[in-house]
Amino acid sequence: MTKILAIANQKGGVGKTTTSVNLAASLAASDMDVLLVDLDPQANATMGSGTDKQIARTTVYQVLLGEAPLQAARVTSTQGKYDLVPANRDLAGAEVEMVGFERREARLRAALEPVQDEYDYILIDCPPALNLLTLNGLCAAHAVMIPMQCEYYALEGLSDLVNTIKRVRSSFNPSLRIEGLLRTMFDPRNILAQQVSDQLQKHFGDKVYRTVIPRNVRLAEAPGFGLPVLYHDGQSKGAQAYLELAREILNA
Ligand code: ATP
Ligand code: MG
Repeated sequence: MTKILAIANQKGGVGKTTTSVNLAASLAASDMDVLLVDLDPQANATMGSGTDKQIARTTVYQVLLGEAPLQAARVTSTQGKYDLVPANRDLAGAEVEMVGFERREARLRAALEPVQDEYDYILIDCPPALNLLTLNGLCAAHAVMIPMQCEYYALEGLSDLVNTIKRVRSSFNPSLRIEGLLRTMFDPRNILAQQVSDQLQKHFGDKVYRTVIPRNVRLAEAPGFGLPVLYHDGQSKGAQAYLELAREILNA
């Protein structure tokens, strides 16, 4: 059975894209067939997968507008051993252009339907907003993975996201679940991070992944080479953490 995961948090810079790219590569390293969909006009997941957003002609933008089937946009990230539906700046206009469309929240879900059986996992990297693009991600997904930094405002933002997920569940996608909360850029020496982490576990219990992603410079460097960290420095703490996350998900 294919599992479709939206990687979402409307807060910017919490590690959504880093998680999307590196989890895709780590699952692929376990012989899973993986598709990564870049749903962010910043196109960081596209660049981080070694695909030049300037060159990508057919992207998720044409797919959402119904101008191209998803198969026409899909490329193989030879670096990461997974397939990618790239994005570029054009995607920023999609929201406005889709306004008049019927069922505009379900465009991605419809586009994925013909290909989804080819994959074990489909990961959707959402933009940092609760907008129509993220809504498309949430409507297409079976479950949401929420990367978060353990800092004071993280918990506040979380309740907005949880409410959005509830609304999507009641209006569009009744089976949508929270797959898990992932602690990212974690520094165990930071007392506040520890406290927020404890609170998270108290509130969300076993919805919090056991795996914690540490702050690790290799993770930040890897996109500059267009590589998942696994192929930039496989021994690094960051690479090992994402491999562990993949194992945790596969064994769940
Ligand atoms: P946006 O909301 O803009 O899409 P995002 O949630 O996708 O951001 P990332 O782009 O993954 O977040 O990460 C933000 C920045 O932090 C990037 O520069 C990234 O390289 C860096 N980063 C992410 N995770 C880690 C980590 N575990 N250790 C060190 N740096 C990290
Ligand atoms: Mg991102």
